Amino acid sequence: MKIDEALIAKITSEILTQMQSGSPQPCEHTSGIFTTVDEAVAAARVAYKELRTLSIEKRESLVQAMRDAAYENAALLAEMGVSESGMGRVSDKIIKNQMAAIKTPGTEDLETKAWSGDRGLTLIEMGPFGVIGAITPTTNPSETVICNGIGMIAAGNTVFFSPHPTAKNTSIKTIQLLNEAVVKAGGPKNLLTSVAEPSIVAANAMMKHPGINMLVATGGPGVVKAVLSSGKKAIGAGAGNPPVIVDETANIEKAARDIIAGCSFDNNLPCIAEKEVIAVGSIGDELITYMQKYGAYLISGATIGRLLDVIMTAKEEKIAEGCTEKINRTYGINKDYVGKDAKYILSKIGIDVPDSVRVVICETGPEHPFVVEELMMPVLPIVQVKDIDEAIALAVKVEHGNRHTAIMHSKNVENMTKYAKAIETTIFVKNAPSYAGIGVGGEGFITFTIAGPTGEGLTSPRSFTRQRRCVLVEAFSII
Ligand code: NAD
Repeated sequence: MKIDEALIAKITSEILTQMQSGSPQPCEHTSGIFTTVDEAVAAARVAYKELRTLSIEKRESLVQAMRDAAYENAALLAEMGVSESGMGRVSDKIIKNQMAAIKTPGTEDLETKAWSGDRGLTLIEMGPFGVIGAITPTTNPSETVICNGIGMIAAGNTVFFSPHPTAKNTSIKTIQLLNEAVVKAGGPKNLLTSVAEPSIVAANAMMKHPGINMLVATGGPGVVKAVLSSGKKAIGAGAGNPPVIVDETANIEKAARDIIAGCSFDNNLPCIAEKEVIAVGSIGDELITYMQKYGAYLISGATIGRLLDVIMTAKEEKIAEGCTEKINRTYGINKDYVGKDAKYILSKIGIDVPDSVRVVICETGPEHPFVVEELMMPVLPIVQVKDIDEAIALAVKVEHGNRHTAIMHSKNVENMTKYAKAIETTIFVKNAPSYAGIGVGGEGFITFTIAGPTGEGLTSPRSFTRQRRCVLVEAFSII
């Protein structure tokens, strides 16, 4: 995951110069950005009809044009995303954009099934849904548009995007660049559309719009619930809180290095990133020592409480317990710190560290808010437990039934199998950083929409299709 620092500095300065010339300008005829939801959906419907007339070979060439544009503009979009949302790391977002451009599957993902026999030939083909309404998160404002854009169009659909308002310029710019590339490659305009001012109101109008055939939501629990209540076919890719278990049989130094690499990637924004460590038996102290070697800064004692007061918000309510009243304190994340650098976060509690510090680590109990909540910050709690059964029980509890991602470092196949069976996550990564689970340093394609709640898993073009059966009786079998 190393990238040339000098190159990034050069690209960053070029981008800043470009950005000073202003935010992306809506250009209604080729770039897909409209004033109202109605206009944008209508344009996407016209584009869908045009796309239906093109061959799959032509569609694939348009997908290639989108890939090229996304790859060429990976740095521009990464810089915009960090600067606009205030979250993440430019160098990591460049990699994410590039990977989305290269490793999102295309039309080859669409497979036809056939049965032939005495009664002829039956085919099942993967056809498009129509116009898809895609809701994207602030944590991946360009990555999700690139990945969903390629996947949905490869499957023959067009898309209305509903980007997160806090990263709208980045998402809009991505939509514009992809549309312009398609038009330049001889494709229809407005394969991807959106509105110039995305909002929750616009997202709700999109969900109810009769011109939208299918919904795909990538984000937290609220938006997943919203699309699943819409009455339309919906794919929900929701929150995670991935636990990583390290047992006594693991290569402890490698585990420490991999955990820091995965947890610190894009400042912990990815939903798949390591969010809490559960160390089994006696290896905890050794693991912590190696984590410090690979860029972690250890805090302890009262300092943990000071950090809690900064990065989390507390809510107190009185609850009745039997005949007495008890204070129930619950915590949420302070959004100002989501995706921020470890150095910045530590500076807020008066600790000055070098840039090389990538993650703040601390030992906590199993019910600490850092363990329970999805922080999306480079702050990693470590809980020591006595054995693998205790570790698995805690991991299952803090994953909250999201069925998203879990990670394990171990050489014990039985332990790995037991954990995987118990936690039932969509992604289970063994002996690697979490991002190996989406094909970065591991086998398999990439996605930025991991549909645990609705079961499509790592989405690809086939996830955005309808299966259609064509039956021909008494012919076309040649045996
Ligand atoms: P978010 O839920 O706040 O917003 C996601 C999108 O949904 C935004 O476009 C937002 O405007 C919209 N939205 C939110 N509530 C809505 C509602 N009630 N009605 C209509 N639209 C609504 O999430 P975020 O902070 O942008 O992203 C971080 C979350 O997304 C984390 O929980 C992370 O785990 C999750 N995530 C999941 C995946 C995945 O593939 N499963 C990928 C990336 C992020």
